[in-house]
Amino acid sequence: MEFNLSKAPMTKEVEMDPTKTYDTLIIGTGPAGLNAALYLRRKGLEVGMIGRQAGGQVADTSSVENYLGFTGISGLSLVEEFERHVAELEVPILKYYGVTEVKKTAEGQFEVLAEDEQTYRANSLILATGASKRKLGVPGEKELYGRGVTYCAICDGPLYRGKKVMVAGGGNSAVEAAIDLSKICSEVTLVHRSRFRADQILLDQMVRIPNIKAHLETQIQSINGDMGVESVTVTDKATGAVSEIPVEGIFVEIGNIPNTDLFRGLVELTPGGEIIVDANGATSLAGVYAAGDVTTVKYKQIIIAAAQGASAALALNDWYMTRS
Ligand SMILES: Cc1cc2nc3c(=O)[nH]c(=O)nc-3n(C[C@H](O)[C@H](O)[C@H](O)COP(=O)(O)OP(=O)(O)OC[C@H]3O[C@@H](n4cnc5c(N)ncnc54)[C@H](O)[C@@H]3O)c2cc1C
Repeated sequence: MEFNLSKAPMTKEVEMDPTKTYDTLIIGTGPAGLNAALYLRRKGLEVGMIGRQAGGQVADTSSVENYLGFTGISGLSLVEEFERHVAELEVPILKYYGVTEVKKTAEGQFEVLAEDEQTYRANSLILATGASKRKLGVPGEKELYGRGVTYCAICDGPLYRGKKVMVAGGGNSAVEAAIDLSKICSEVTLVHRSRFRADQILLDQMVRIPNIKAHLETQIQSINGDMGVESVTVTDKATGAVSEIPVEGIFVEIGNIPNTDLFRGLVELTPGGEIIVDANGATSLAGVYAAGDVTTVKYKQIIIAAAQGASAALALNDWYMTRS
């Protein structure tokens, strides 16, 4: 069957109601939150959603090539598909507003204050506020984003087949990225400003790969290029020597910043700020589930976030059933 967006049915947008107590409120409208809404609605629960950016990080992705069923689709088109599916179930969504406070009341309900200055109420919550990629903050990073600067080796690695690339970072994700890219790219230069923080087993694996070079105690100064990345300027911290490394891509793998400031004191977080969940998305607080990049799940991918949203929704539904 031919895939034709223009033939998709029109759907009705439903507004959130501050006078109602929802069975569940979902905070975050990325793939995790949207899929949780789909599953909860199909279980017959009254669900509402609040999210600052429709589609979350997917909306910032130029092309997605690893979501099952789509060989290549723009991030925005994939978000449109997600939203259309959820809208068919008439899920009320407060779009483009953030949540500023979440409280548990003495009666065991949850009150969620949003930027539209309304308080929304629910008996349970799904937290799906995602994460932001940590940035290097050097000249050229913003200007060349999407033209050689990337934050996802799993997603964009295949675009750099046969090319020289750099990986910035010294943790597990950077070393894993370097190992993965070494199978696709002609040469991988790993640059980190201090010592490695990656697991020894990964480092042992990496040193045996001939097309990976590592520069530790090396600071990235700028990413250079006109239409795309051409080189990266670095400084050796010990000697002060400045050099320019020719590469066509730089993978920035220096971690995520989970959007969890809001939930401090409500649910248990790791020292890095991720929400600690069990295999089904339950947090440390009964009735509060979490899904996607905001959680301790290791791999941060669209399909994984969506699947975690489904899992959290089903677990929450089970919890809801045993409670009533
Ligand atoms: C540049 C880039 C390219 C990527 N490419 C790919 C790819 O090709 N394939 C792939 O599988 N993965 C890719 N990823 C990773 C993927 O996008 C994420 O893993 C996925 O979007 C996580 O989904 P999520 O729903 O958990 O969180 P997010 O997508 O981060 O969504 C979080 C939602 O919460 C909202 N929110 C945050 N704080 C608040 C608040 N206080 N109040 C209300 N709402 C809030 C946000 O606005 C957003 O709606 C990419 C990521 C980036 C940054």
